[in-house]
Amino acid sequence: MQRQNDRKRVAIIVGAGPAGLTAAYELLKHGDVHPVILEADEVVGGLSRTVDFNGNRMDIGGHRFFSRNDEVMRWWLDIMPLSTYEECSENAMLRRRRLSRIFFLRRFFDYPIKASYSTFSKLGILRTLSVVGSYIIARIRRRDELSLEDFYINRFGKVLYRLFFEDYTQKVWGKHPSELGADWGSQRVKGLSLFTVLSNALSQRREKGCKEVETSLISSFLYPKFGPGQLWERVASLIKEKGGGLFLGYRVVKVNFSDGKPFSVTCRSSQGEEYVLACDYLFSSMPLAELLPSFNGLSVPSPVLDTAVALPYRDFITVGVLLDGMSVRGEADDGNSASRLPDNWIYIQERDVKVGRIQLFNNWSPYMVADNENSVFLGLEYFCSEGDALWTMSDADISAMAVDELVRLGFIESKSVIETHVIRMKKAYPAYYGSYSGIEKVRAFLDGIENLYCIGRNGQHRYNNMDHSMLSAMRAVDVLYGKCGRDALWNVNTDAEYNEEN
Ligand SMILES: Cc1cc2nc3c(=O)[nH]c(=O)nc-3n(C[C@H](O)[C@H](O)[C@H](O)COP(=O)(O)OP(=O)(O)OC[C@H]3O[C@@H](n4cnc5c(N)ncnc54)[C@H](O)[C@@H]3O)c2cc1C
Repeated sequence: MQRQNDRKRVAIIVGAGPAGLTAAYELLKHGDVHPVILEADEVVGGLSRTVDFNGNRMDIGGHRFFSRNDEVMRWWLDIMPLSTYEECSENAMLRRRRLSRIFFLRRFFDYPIKASYSTFSKLGILRTLSVVGSYIIARIRRRDELSLEDFYINRFGKVLYRLFFEDYTQKVWGKHPSELGADWGSQRVKGLSLFTVLSNALSQRREKGCKEVETSLISSFLYPKFGPGQLWERVASLIKEKGGGLFLGYRVVKVNFSDGKPFSVTCRSSQGEEYVLACDYLFSSMPLAELLPSFNGLSVPSPVLDTAVALPYRDFITVGVLLDGMSVRGEADDGNSASRLPDNWIYIQERDVKVGRIQLFNNWSPYMVADNENSVFLGLEYFCSEGDALWTMSDADISAMAVDELVRLGFIESKSVIETHVIRMKKAYPAYYGSYSGIEKVRAFLDGIENLYCIGRNGQHRYNNMDHSMLSAMRAVDVLYGKCGRDALWNVNTDAEYNEEN
């Protein structure tokens, strides 16, 4: 590792995901603090990386670039200018049309559900009547909102809740909606309810601008030509060009304190060697469950430590399946010869399969697939917990299960599979149950530590999108320069904005 520039104050940044990279990029604008990023993995981007598999690129779940915050939108477009699909250069942001649907009863439903003839005809007359009946009952007999189940039933009625929300929630979080807090609903479906769905259908309201429509109804998004990882790789090279440090394959294992402030970190290389790096400031996007036990020379009260260590997470497996075509015909917007569905992603509500969502990477960007004309690249998403039956399956078994499920769903014939690729991601979802109820204790303790800034999704244990993680990093830099108080850092993504199951 290079010697650090000791004339400047040094900020060690843990993690080269969107939060860590944004923090470094923003610090470099000020010029008097030298950022050094330590990243445990060999690649940048964190959960927002793009994995190259024999020239076919896949996200860890598709990553839309969409933000209600203009600061973030401008930041993305400064790094990667918007271009058209036909004329784009290598570093281009594309505007992509969004289509995501629900697959249920072996049929496609709009996402979010629309009160249309098509929906009701697919549900059938009896189900439609019971949907309407149960919605009326739910409006008359409102439940106290103690759980996510109550939240959904109040807004959609029991029948629609059972059809579209109950099983999917269980799949994603491994918990029944009755075991989850009602506040999750405000993030998941925000202003949406059967009433909003009906009034949207009646007024045929057209999209006027990002802020004027419910987020889940937004019909287009930005996406880098070669996937989200491309943008984060570009940010990483700009950081290096501007003099920032970036070290891949170095896991921070200890944060060393003196007089109650972090003064150095100990990191371990992928070869097992340990290094100590001095710092004036520490920006951490590592999981809180790992940060607090790493404190060396600062005593952490047991209730705080116990809460942090027990914070719950969901883990994630995605299986890339390269095909020479799908058996369901659709129209992709770029005219292809390999048949494929037109969706960016599909929510799978069927009870006989484990897959939760399917991505069609060709439709995110045609440049994601080496032979876009003649092949289809799918990503099947499985939600699991580290160590459970799914997590511990071999790659070969997971791939076989994924292909079998695609065949059973009627999407492919097994002979159309060219190859598969399995990716596992730990701690993909910070969850809001269990010891999460004590998170304020953890935050209060961390806020008392001068020069430590917790940023990002797992760094704050917050169900963040990329823009939220970036904003927490931007605000942390503002706190360092005295432009705002620490509350601003934690207030990102607390106003019940909508998050899809990202
Ligand atoms: C399936 C899925 C789909 C998503 N879709 C979207 C979407 O469409 N749009 C959107 O905006 N967001 C989406 N997200 C959310 C987005 O991925 C995250 O908000 C974002 O990546 C969080 O950035 P971060 O930097 O906070 O954390 P991360 O991306 O998790 O990065 C943290 C980094 O820190 C590193 N690290 C951890 N511990 C250490 C350590 N001890 N030492 C050194 N390095 C360490 C990790 O290796 C990692 O690289 C999605 C997420 C998932 C899982």
